[in-house]
Amino acid sequence: MGYLLTEQNMDLFLKKIRGDSDIFAPVRFRNGGCFSDTGCIRYGRIESIADVVLDEKSQYSFKEALLPISQTLFYFTEDTVKESSAPEKGAVIFLRSCDLHAVKRLDEMYLHSGNPDHYYERIRSRARFVLMGCSKAFDSCFCVDMGTNRSDNYDLSIDYQDGLYRLDCRDRDWARLLASLCEREQAVTPQYVTETATHVQIPENLDVRAARSTIWNEYDKRCINCGRCNFVCPTCTCFTMQDLYYSENGRVGERRRIPASCMVDGFTDVAGGASYRKKNGERMRFKVLHKVLDFRSRSGYNMCVGCGRCDDVCPEYISFSACVNKLADAMKEVGDDVR
Ligand code: SF4
Ligand code: SF4
Repeated sequence: MGYLLTEQNMDLFLKKIRGDSDIFAPVRFRNGGCFSDTGCIRYGRIESIADVVLDEKSQYSFKEALLPISQTLFYFTEDTVKESSAPEKGAVIFLRSCDLHAVKRLDEMYLHSGNPDHYYERIRSRARFVLMGCSKAFDSCFCVDMGTNRSDNYDLSIDYQDGLYRLDCRDRDWARLLASLCEREQAVTPQYVTETATHVQIPENLDVRAARSTIWNEYDKRCINCGRCNFVCPTCTCFTMQDLYYSENGRVGERRRIPASCMVDGFTDVAGGASYRKKNGERMRFKVLHKVLDFRSRSGYNMCVGCGRCDDVCPEYISFSACVNKLADAMKEVGDDVR
């Protein structure tokens, strides 16, 4: 059912749902960018609808609401281990269609590939999603080519038009509340884009032979292995562990989970001092083929959702989408190789 709400009543709605949930949405952080005097849009807790940046793309994705940047898993002493507490409240997350498709990828990796991840599951099981409609595509988006420009598995959708918030609600409790707050009820369809300026074409014959192409060599020098492309990506999920010791003997402390990046030094280091992917081009190859080949061969759909954030954030202007568009040439180059 659809509802049209004023800003004031939208805030009353948010106030009600804040009773049992933290609300995460893209927020503008002035002077919060990576370089001096720059801002950024990333996820934060909101109290008012005016806090939400609806008309720009966030540089960082929603994933930090489901996978906190620093998450304590457990505390330990000399002879005890105590699990950290789950968040007291559930999570309501504002996100765009591509990102809602990314949630499916996170679920695939954290819930359906072997044993479910307990720490992800305890947040995810209490998460609800508010789809932010897209009235236009941003320059680097290629969601249409990745098939992620539309979503319908949301709890609530939101668009802002002509001074009113237009909502489509699929949650029964929220619908009752919205009916009591709305200006009027009216069928609402979330906005979505059908065309993007950036296009990608993943060759149908793409397979592991592409790994042998020389296209990866240019990234040996261009990439500076900063890892920014991984940290902004809504579908990059690698993590590492960090033990914080409270005592000098190292036997009392806590273990935290923090994000890791396949592009930075040390990611593939193994015992004995070896490292599998030393060159930056090899790391680029691994990342790109994981996003558009390896994951699909296991799950049946691409890992990349075409949000374009990695293209926006790279300090070396390396474009993931441009690299994907080189894969057809890569396959031609290695076409006669035996697997
Ligand atoms: S591709 Fe760009 S963002 Fe990613 S590690 Fe290399 S330089 Fe950094
Ligand atoms: S690889 Fe780039 S475009 Fe694809 S989902 Fe990740 S950040 Fe978005």
